[in-house]
Parts: sequence; C-alpha cells; structure tokens
Amino acid sequence: MKKTLFIIFTCVFFMFSSFSVPTQAIEGKKDASKEVAHDQKVVYITFDDGPGGKVTESMLKTLKENGVHATFFLIGSQIEYQKDLVKKIVDDGNAVGLHSYTHLRKNLYGSNANFLKEMVDCQNIIYDTTGVKTNILRFPFGCNNSFYKLNNDMIDKIHNSGLKVFEWNVDSTDGMYPSMPASKIAKRAQSKKDTAVVLMHSGFVNKNSAEALPIVIKYYKDNGYTFKTLNEDTQELYRIIKKKR
Ligand SMILES: [Zn+2]
Repeated sequence: MKKTLFIIFTCVFFMFSSFSVPTQAIEGKKDASKEVAHDQKVVYITFDDGPGGKVTESMLKTLKENGVHATFFLIGSQIEYQKDLVKKIVDDGNAVGLHSYTHLRKNLYGSNANFLKEMVDCQNIIYDTTGVKTNILRFPFGCNNSFYKLNNDMIDKIHNSGLKVFEWNVDSTDGMYPSMPASKIAKRAQSKKDTAVVLMHSGFVNKNSAEALPIVIKYYKDNGYTFKTLNEDTQELYRIIKKKR
C-alpha cells in the first residue's frame, strides 16, 4: 500500500513538475503525506464473546459517549435471541466479525471443516440480522491454543473461503480473568505500540470490562491514538508456529 502511494505520489510529482507548478505547493503536499505516515498511532479496540446483554449495551453507550468505534467478534448462538442488540452494534457504526456459532472447542477444533462451517453459520446469522456480510474472524481461544495450532493449510482454506484472520497484540486478559478489577483490566489493555489491536470481551460475564472501557478509551485518546475498526482491507494479524523437528 505504502509503495503504491509512493509510486502514485512520484507520478503526480513528475506530472505536475512538467507543467511547472510552483515547487512550494509540491513540497507542502510531500510533507503532509510524510506526517500521516509516521505520526499516526492507531488503536483497534476489539471485543470477543458478544453479544452479552447489559454488558454489551453498556459498552455501546461508552463508545458513543466518547465518539469512538470498536470491533465486535460475535458468537452466532447468542445472536439468535439478541438480534436488536446486534443491530444496535452495527447502527452505531461499529464493526462486526465472526467468532464461531457455538464457541465450543470440541465442535470447533474437531476438524477444519467444522471450524469453517461454524464461521459461515455465524456469517449468515449476522447477515440475516443486520444486512452486513462480514469476512473477518477471530479464533475462539486464539489461533494457537492448547487444543489447536494454526497451519498454512488451514490459512489457505480460510482465505479460499474469503475470510481473514485477526488476532490481537495487546491482551487485557479479561477473557481468562473476567472478575479481575476494572482498573487492572484497563491497565493491561494499555500499550505504547504504534498499532494496537486490543483484546477485550463483551460476554455476559464481562461486567468489569464494561467498567474498564472508559479508562481504556481515555488512555488511548490522551496518548494521541486514532480509533479504527477492523475490516477486510486491514492487514491480517496471526502467527503460524513452526513445528519443532
Ligand atoms: Zn471467545
């Protein structure tokens, strides 16, 4: 992408140069593009395990009050009886992604075909509910967990199904410890990375995460981050661990 932009810029530069546009105008443009490339810090707040009733409602309220958006990786079976809440997630301008239909490890990781079927079933119920066809997914328990390790064959299958994988690079650990105090969840969700993909949870048990969210948003705002949501054009994020020989 950067390379393409550079090429376009170079072409525009020479095109305009040949028409003798004042040098200053060109330089101004060049400097501005440099600034964007180097200074923009981006945070993607992501929530797994929703929709989760009052917890998700509270998070939506906080996001709205702060004028920012997040990405919700949803569980299909929970959408069945919370369709209005899922519509609200989308209507508020947030992104939605796939987090399987059952979230049951033995269903999901029994075979690659089961995993893909669960993601497509989740995609269908989101589409039927909201009209949005989302292609982004997050593996329940992460793509390298104690029962499953992502490999190249599976990545090809996922890509051939038109799907993209997003892990995280900052873990609030609220999935493992939902009862942890909000201040601690918020602390662990903070990072200094230029691009932070923050894992939080929005399930029924994640009341403390809802409480932590305003603190997390404030931290990233105070530190000059731009809030973005994941989509199919975002650079994927996953890791394939090489097998030991
Ligand atoms: Zn999950």
